[in-house]
Amino acid sequence: MSTSSDVTERLKGILGSAGVMTDWADQEPYAMDWRKLFPGKPACVVRPSSTEQVAQIVQICHEAGVAVVPQGGNTGLAGGAVPDSSGTQVLLSLNRMAAIRNVDPIGMTIEAEAGCILKVAQDAASSAGRLLPISLAAEGSATIGGVVAANAGGVNVLRYGMTRNLVLGLEVVLPDGTIANGLRRLRKDNAGYDWKQLFIGSEGTLGIVTAAVLRLLPRPKHSVTALLSVPDPDAALRLLELAQDELGDQVTAFELISRTSLGLVARHAGLKPPIAEGEWFVLIEAASSLAGLREAAETMLGSAFEHVIALDGVIAESGAQAAQLWALREHVTESEAREGKSVKHDVSVPLTSVPCFLAEAGEALAAGAPGTRVNAFGHLGDGNIHYNVLVDAGHDANVINRIVHDVVAAYGGSISAEHGIGQYRVGELARYRSPVEMDITRKLKRALDPEGLLNPGKVLSA
Ligand SMILES: Cc1cc2nc3c(=O)[nH]c(=O)nc-3n(C[C@H](O)[C@H](O)[C@H](O)COP(=O)(O)OP(=O)(O)OC[C@H]3O[C@@H](n4cnc5c(N)ncnc54)[C@H](O)[C@@H]3O)c2cc1C
Repeated sequence: MSTSSDVTERLKGILGSAGVMTDWADQEPYAMDWRKLFPGKPACVVRPSSTEQVAQIVQICHEAGVAVVPQGGNTGLAGGAVPDSSGTQVLLSLNRMAAIRNVDPIGMTIEAEAGCILKVAQDAASSAGRLLPISLAAEGSATIGGVVAANAGGVNVLRYGMTRNLVLGLEVVLPDGTIANGLRRLRKDNAGYDWKQLFIGSEGTLGIVTAAVLRLLPRPKHSVTALLSVPDPDAALRLLELAQDELGDQVTAFELISRTSLGLVARHAGLKPPIAEGEWFVLIEAASSLAGLREAAETMLGSAFEHVIALDGVIAESGAQAAQLWALREHVTESEAREGKSVKHDVSVPLTSVPCFLAEAGEALAAGAPGTRVNAFGHLGDGNIHYNVLVDAGHDANVINRIVHDVVAAYGGSISAEHGIGQYRVGELARYRSPVEMDITRKLKRALDPEGLLNPGKVLSA
């Protein structure tokens, strides 16, 4: 293995001195994850501006036996995008590769480089009269490459699916520096294995995404947003069933928010809900290109009140009001971070098990970790709850993880619905996935990255 300084010199040969950051003051913004749980120390930070440069960097590191950690917007919540603290790993930021290469409103596709900010891509699609439906609170910083590598979910999965459902083509640099160009725009392509699927959700452990072609949809002309209080999570599920019966697949988002979540948002973001009553709230959005949506939504909500599935509620009268309702949901994560320490769980269970999961996990925590508070919210329409536990210094995160994840496992759920494994949940993945599934995972990693140099210690232990 070459020393890091040999590698650094060779990298400067490609990128110039300005393209290789070796001073800690320059590296620092890249070295810590969003949650500030995993402080890292890279050998250097490199910021290539083309796929060819990415390939050259990876090839040099591969020859030298030096690990490479890809990073997009660094908004991941599982510590996947930061290096370890050894000072030997090269952090490869894609943030200079931010171009939108093409928007095709007829073929309904967008091709963007990995470092393109998600919001920028959404706006480009919108300007062409189309919708890029991946939407999450971090969309102003998250990148296309990061979203693909994390197979991000967000608030529109109910109607449009996870990122995986929207990826048509990928360009990837493999761990030895080879470029795999699969930037096809095809809706139908059964010519052999669909290898790009391996890289979607692989969290930078199998290859570096340098560009992607994503599917666009018609941009809906009408939308309705409402915030409702509901008696309990079971009623929230019945409201979802009613909404889907009455509005069909026009329901795009169905978010559950607890009173605790709204309390945090009021305290730390100064935002208050327009309705007071209730312990549980639902933020529902429906969108359509056809007229009549609002009337249908009002009829549906009238029925919900009549059957006491909903207790109180407001329908946004304008885009600005809809944004205010969404702000309540979007500020939960940041407000929680301001409140203090928390142990986060991004879990999914079969939809009908959500109420039982919430009740049982609450009871198990009260018994096994007294003094903790639960901040539960999330994408109820997908069975995905962010079940975060607010803790004091005395609480052991491992004990809390075990309590919550054992309940998840009992319901046949997943310990990571959308945030991925990163370095945060490596042990939990090994514990809750079967030996056969872990064996498949290790075989795939060995096949593509036999030296284990791409984002080591993420998803699988190094
Ligand atoms: C306030 C807030 C709200 C969020 N809400 C959601 C949500 O609703 N749904 C959701 O799914 N996530 C959510 N997230 C998590 C996060 O925003 C997403 O996972 C997002 O996709 C990460 O994109 P990024 O560019 O920041 O990636 P990074 O954080 O930089 O990286 C994430 C992972 O992908 C790898 N990676 C990054 N770029 C590349 C690349 N080009 N090639 C290969 N690997 C790469 C990294 O090594 C890392 O393992 C939220 C985060 C925050 C802070």
